[in-house]
Amino acid sequence: MRKLLISIFLLITLSFFSKELYLQWKKVDNNNYIEKNNNIFLNISYLEKLGYIIMGTSENMFILKLDDTWSAVVFPKAEVAIINSSESISLNSEDFMYINKKYFVKLNILAKIANLEYFKNSKGYYLNYKLAKLKSIDGFLMKDRLRIIMEFSAKPEKFEIYPLTAVPGYLIKVFGVEIPEVSFSKEFNNKFLSRIKAMQHSQKEIWVTIILGAEAKKYTKLEENGRIMLDIEMTEDFTKPVVVIDPGHGAFDPGALGYLGTREKDMALKVALKTKEILKNKNIRVYLTRDTDKFIELYNRAKIANDLHADLFISIHLNSYLENRSVRGSEVYYFSFSDDKYARKIARKENLDMNDNKDIIQSRVIEKKNSIPESKKMAEILKKYIEKNKIPFRSTNAAEFAVLAYTKCPAVLFELEFLSNPIVEVNFISGKYVDLFAKIIAESIMEYFNVK
Ligand SMILES: [Zn+2]
Repeated sequence: MRKLLISIFLLITLSFFSKELYLQWKKVDNNNYIEKNNNIFLNISYLEKLGYIIMGTSENMFILKLDDTWSAVVFPKAEVAIINSSESISLNSEDFMYINKKYFVKLNILAKIANLEYFKNSKGYYLNYKLAKLKSIDGFLMKDRLRIIMEFSAKPEKFEIYPLTAVPGYLIKVFGVEIPEVSFSKEFNNKFLSRIKAMQHSQKEIWVTIILGAEAKKYTKLEENGRIMLDIEMTEDFTKPVVVIDPGHGAFDPGALGYLGTREKDMALKVALKTKEILKNKNIRVYLTRDTDKFIELYNRAKIANDLHADLFISIHLNSYLENRSVRGSEVYYFSFSDDKYARKIARKENLDMNDNKDIIQSRVIEKKNSIPESKKMAEILKKYIEKNKIPFRSTNAAEFAVLAYTKCPAVLFELEFLSNPIVEVNFISGKYVDLFAKIIAESIMEYFNVK
């Protein structure tokens, strides 16, 4: 029984003394405040830590100032304070203590004269800046622009907008606000707005980052009450489709080799660059997975298309059949699980062995399923232009290429010709086939998107 009483006593004492004072969430050293009759009186000089200036302290008065936003001339004995040179509030002299030429003020009164927020809970007493709270951020695709709307519980002190340097987008610094949660992040599934995130940068400042999927031309801003609105005009036409062209192989991976030593990786790149050039002034945005001789993992090639929210993905390759160098002609592949032995053989040569990775591929395919008819459509268009340009056409096939499986958008893999065939190789070396295949691909893309 005695033991129990002692522990109860200890518990009560501990819980009473464990209550601490926090200023903007930071613990205040207890020799800066006085506890009297269950009330806490804080030394006003301590507010300097929050950026306040304390002036003219005498037994009769003191002045509190914060930037240009707040001032309080306080007369404890006269029981009055003048706020921002205009408003007066009445006080009680018992809420003040003047000790060793220092003023100590009761927390709830200090909150009033310093424009702070005061509250207490079981852990302690808290004095914080009175900050507007971030309520929501959202982005909307309008007909001709992107609109970002930020809502706050009250008007922020001010905000500043800076363009991002590494990626297209903006950084908005908002002052006098806080985020109720630790941070805010939202993904957008469209090609013009990738992501919006916000975080508390310092005690009174939040940073909102808007990451765009394309370059912005300019913005206009609007602020009313607790709302900041940003209208962003994009350089790209919102209606322009996006195509990603993927020249196969690269760097240490040369791909197929011709009899004269021509490398698949080089010809694929040349055709891709030429295609981009042809489409330059058309209403299509063209991106390449590589524009130099470098190696990119298959997954990352697809990721480029996914990040850009591409509408079409075309992987460019050249075939080889060393057993018979007279074999030639074009083949187009789109993704599907295939039982065709030949298609499997080609897929294995260009990629990883699908037998080991079927589970991974299968999970992605579920997402991809809807794009298969569109991929097939592109394969048929390519076939049409290949035949029109008098290149022997061999087949369109469903196959299990990783690079096709990982892309979310419609995707085809185009085996232009057989580099193992000497006539084909010579035509690539002369540049004739580079131009011809670039033309075939560019025209097919234009027909696919119905662009003139
Ligand atoms: Zn290849």
